[in-house]
Amino acid sequence: MKLLRSFPDKQLKAGCLWILMSMLALSAWGASGAIAQTSRKHAGPSNKQLASPEIQRKVEALLKKMTLDEKLGQLVQYSDSGYSGQAQTADEVANPGKNPTAPHPVDAMELVSTGKLGSLLNLVGQERTNQLQHAAVEKSRLHIPLMFGADIIHGYKTIYPMPLALAATFDPELVSSLAHISATEARTGGVDWFYSPMVDISRDPRWGRTQEGAGEDPYLGAAMARAYIRGYQQGDLSQPTSVAASVKHYAAYGAAEAGREYNTTDMSMSRLHQDYLPPYKAAVEEGAATMMSAFNSLNGVPATANTYLLQTVLRDSWGFNGFVVSDYTAVMELRNHGIALDAATAAKKALTAGVDVDMMSHYYDAELPGLIKSGQVPMSVVDEAVRRVLRVKYALGLFDHPYAEGKEVTTAVPEHRPLVRKAAEEAIVLLKNEGSNGGMALLPLKKDGKKVALIGPLADDTGEMMGAWGMTKREPDVVTVKDALDARLKQSGGSLLYAKGTEISGDSEAGFAEALEAAKQADVVVMALGETAEMSGEAGSRAYLGLPGNQQKLLEQVAAAEKPVVLLVFSGRPLVLDWAAKHVPAIMEAWFPGTEAGNAIANLMYGDVAPSAKLPMSFPRAVGQEPLHYDQFPTGRPPVGLDLTRTPNGDSRFFSRYVDVPNDALFPFGFGLSYTRFSYEGVAVSKHDIPVREASRADAKDLVTVTATVKNTGDREGTEIVQCYVRNLGASLEQPVRSLKGFERVTLKPGESKQVTFRLGFPELSFYNNEGRPVVEATDYTVWVGGSSTADLHDEFKIVR
Ligand code: BGC
Repeated sequence: MKLLRSFPDKQLKAGCLWILMSMLALSAWGASGAIAQTSRKHAGPSNKQLASPEIQRKVEALLKKMTLDEKLGQLVQYSDSGYSGQAQTADEVANPGKNPTAPHPVDAMELVSTGKLGSLLNLVGQERTNQLQHAAVEKSRLHIPLMFGADIIHGYKTIYPMPLALAATFDPELVSSLAHISATEARTGGVDWFYSPMVDISRDPRWGRTQEGAGEDPYLGAAMARAYIRGYQQGDLSQPTSVAASVKHYAAYGAAEAGREYNTTDMSMSRLHQDYLPPYKAAVEEGAATMMSAFNSLNGVPATANTYLLQTVLRDSWGFNGFVVSDYTAVMELRNHGIALDAATAAKKALTAGVDVDMMSHYYDAELPGLIKSGQVPMSVVDEAVRRVLRVKYALGLFDHPYAEGKEVTTAVPEHRPLVRKAAEEAIVLLKNEGSNGGMALLPLKKDGKKVALIGPLADDTGEMMGAWGMTKREPDVVTVKDALDARLKQSGGSLLYAKGTEISGDSEAGFAEALEAAKQADVVVMALGETAEMSGEAGSRAYLGLPGNQQKLLEQVAAAEKPVVLLVFSGRPLVLDWAAKHVPAIMEAWFPGTEAGNAIANLMYGDVAPSAKLPMSFPRAVGQEPLHYDQFPTGRPPVGLDLTRTPNGDSRFFSRYVDVPNDALFPFGFGLSYTRFSYEGVAVSKHDIPVREASRADAKDLVTVTATVKNTGDREGTEIVQCYVRNLGASLEQPVRSLKGFERVTLKPGESKQVTFRLGFPELSFYNNEGRPVVEATDYTVWVGGSSTADLHDEFKIVR
């Protein structure tokens, strides 16, 4: 009840604040005639279902009955076998970093039966989850059901392409459908809470977790974030096929310095709000039920004890009313960050900052009783955290339907394969497609019987195809490239010569001779090279971004056989492909495509489907360019008009450039080829002047429209991802050289054209100032429409006083 009473009060205060701030903003506008800004007030609770009066009533009634132990139980999460965080032995105290790999055993059944454990981590399977759930519901005093949270990141049993690959589809609807099928599958195995989506913007492919997110761009990242939430939660957590999403890792984890995992981040407020927070905000707006606090520190304050992130932004500004779970042992790690000298301080800092559930540290249950007793942590803070957890449990319908039911999904689902295959077809990016020796484009391959040499360590590896996060994957379900090509060539009267050639890592050349022999005998060579899935993902940072092991050497030797080569690159990140880009006629970035890998790749290579994917991250020429992203800030010395492939001389030296590599990406953001071509014309804006007063309304959705006509000028049907970029010049803070503000997938028959319209409103035209507020100013805008971030057709407009 306390919450019900205090809420309108809070709203009232926020409302007054809004009026005051609006008045201040208007007077600022009146004084300068140039600046207008919106307040931080949020529109109300982010998830309406969690805010329902019925749920509040139930939560309050239950809370009243709970003992402290039972309350803390709701705030604790272990795996079935134990926890990791609490340093116990002398060795662990001396080496706290070892904890995550040294779990302490617990008797989960006993804890659950006594109401001392609220959720379990990464436990899947109907039998065991139901056993524990029965104990929670039938044996524990208050019968509070458990939540089972798991890292279901890109599929449960039917594995779809890794998230970075899905971002390359620029197809949010498809992503929602995939997210939904994984929820449907996982619910049968008892999982009702996904540690997904990972929405960290990543601009540095050295960081292995780039593969788990949507890449470098906040606009695309926000669209993908919304798509996952819609798919997982369906706007109604109580549906039997919905799961609660956990948006991670809040926040700015993707900016880890030097791309080194778990490393620190430090950035301006403007950059935080403009580039890193938008996908989290979008997920919250879409109703995400939970968030996960990150490992990294932000501007000196670890995210798991960061009141600005967890309270000021998440709760006060965005109105988030779900709960926050810490990342794995992140509460314990506050000690390693050096902001807590003991476990009690770490627990206090995390909880009071706004982390409701402690994953795996065993700090909340161990330390909070003492902290409450001594008055260092008010009971009201614990109560509020418990309320947040219980609301989600009620909303999920767990009190009424606690058990996993129905036929358990234990293998890839045949009915889900077509969608998963389509996802891979839409995700794989055609980076280069030329003829060998200057002839016709090599792809698509001719369908009539040919001799194809398939070479490489990733040609027939089921495990690697599913990426780093397939904890529930089943290797036998995977179709490899070898399986698919074999089947296809048998049908068409061709033949497949397969040679592994080399391992992914290591320097043995024992397999080279066989591979070269296969290449010599073949009409066409397909090489499947790249990384292991483990080289990206968590703790998968790399300092070198070339093909690992001696694969580059193998590639060069095979290419010297002078047969047409198609290079398939499997990787969890952009790699440096500069040699291949010069010497190999056709290159496809296949990422880790999932269960249907081979079928999707064969369909693309033989042209049953034309590639349509576009890069969600820039591919560098050299590691030293990182972090490389298309939406960079301008510099005072732009190297305009210089040939950056040449070593600088006196006249061309003192510019923002490298002496040994051009500045731009080898393959830029938004780039990707098809088997047809597209042309653009008629990029035009609907207005050339927009009054700043009009543009300053936060709810202004349609301030200016941009139209352009895209035409399929090739000879087969294809899908183009039309992209709209905006630049804002003359603002009080410098702004990126361009930023994505719209995209649309357009499928066109040969000769067909379509006019595409983008509506730009306040969200697209504003930028964030260093107080973290979106503002518009009287400035000049350029808008481009085209097929990549290097589009050149443009028009202009102004926001005027
Ligand atoms: C990862 C999270 C994951 C969690 C639970 C952590 O190490 O950073 O992404 O959800 O473990 O497995």
